[in-house]
Amino acid sequence: MNEDYLVVGSGLFGSTFAYEAAKRGKRVKVIEKRDHIGGNIYTETLEGIQVHKYGAHIFHTNNKEIWNYVNQFAEFNRYTNSPIANFKGEIYNLPFNMNTFYKLWGVITPEEAKAKIEEQRKVSGIEKPRNLEEQAISLVGTDIYEKLIKGYTEKQWGRKATELPAFIIKRLPVRFTYDNNYFNDRYQGIPIGGYTQIVEKMLSSERIDVELNTDFFAKREEYLQEFPKVIYTGMIDQFFDYQFGELEYRSLHFETTILDLENYQGNAVVNYTDAETPFTRIIEHKHFEFGNQPITVITKEYPRTWKKGDEPYYPVNDEKNNEKYRKYSELAGQFPNVIFGGRLGMYKYYDMHQVIAAALSVVKKEFHE
Ligand code: FAD
Repeated sequence: MNEDYLVVGSGLFGSTFAYEAAKRGKRVKVIEKRDHIGGNIYTETLEGIQVHKYGAHIFHTNNKEIWNYVNQFAEFNRYTNSPIANFKGEIYNLPFNMNTFYKLWGVITPEEAKAKIEEQRKVSGIEKPRNLEEQAISLVGTDIYEKLIKGYTEKQWGRKATELPAFIIKRLPVRFTYDNNYFNDRYQGIPIGGYTQIVEKMLSSERIDVELNTDFFAKREEYLQEFPKVIYTGMIDQFFDYQFGELEYRSLHFETTILDLENYQGNAVVNYTDAETPFTRIIEHKHFEFGNQPITVITKEYPRTWKKGDEPYYPVNDEKNNEKYRKYSELAGQFPNVIFGGRLGMYKYYDMHQVIAAALSVVKKEFHE
């Protein structure tokens, strides 16, 4: 015992905090309810292939400091995310760029593509979009909307695009160059050998004690009494016994298959953008690392409505939930010995670089630096 900190959750937020605290001579206990460390960035080896167990994870950032930080723990390859859309057997490049427009309309120059989009926007006559469908059409026209946005978005949210609020799509990345690189960030890659090693190294200090298969709520009161400070990266509404009601999430179901085939789809990520295909995408993991194994592993990703007990993946940050979260976070202010962090503790979608930055900023505050 005699630890200075209890970290609840061994995801990237909790592990970054634990690593930094141990570096400063503090003793840390990390408890994790799953049977492995790493949270959602966890990768496991199947047939020599790194499988992203909780969905495709591509590290990308514009922040050199964060890039250097994460490179302490793993060597990154030069992977560039360039997903492909499959709409009823037609293949399109993403994000929407000149390759997409050429395939859709046969246009060659940016001027022609712009004119085509403008023409479709005008025909739609939408001036004040009242829902997501109108918003998308007013931004990129009907063809892109019908083939590449509608079905995918409806599957992701489990609701008709006409019943979804317009604000979900503030802008759509439309690029008038022949560039299939999804991210605009300067740094991007996949850790060679997977993500788990990053967290393993973060938690490898002898000052850090990790306990798996341990749920904070099994001994909540004891933990709160025993540890001077708690870093809590679980669900904030659960911490407060859902007293203002449950925060909503979208959940996912992953179906992973090993195929006796060298190359299944020729790309790491293929989005299925029609409404009929029940999954949103297929990940072929070996392509993240340019693998040349004789077999391959694919994962189909099915969006699901979240209910209590399911794995929460994406927060639904609409007004109703944000208002609930605001109440929980006000209540959290009355617990100075508990720091709420990470995607579940702050009810916020965070990319990996953002979660590391958020944890480092908590570290600075905690250690008065
Ligand atoms: P988590 O990883 O969720 O860690 C929280 C941990 O706390 C979990 O291990 C959980 O089991 C544990 N826990 C919760 N409650 C308790 C409890 N009561 N007791 C004990 N332990 C508990 N980011 C990118 O930068 N690029 C991407 O391409 C990308 N793709 C993504 C794809 C998907 C499908 C998803 C869902 C996320 C993606 N992300 C991506 C985001 C990335 O996963 C997050 O930034 C990161 O995992 C957040 O870390 P965290 O520590 O906040 O949360």
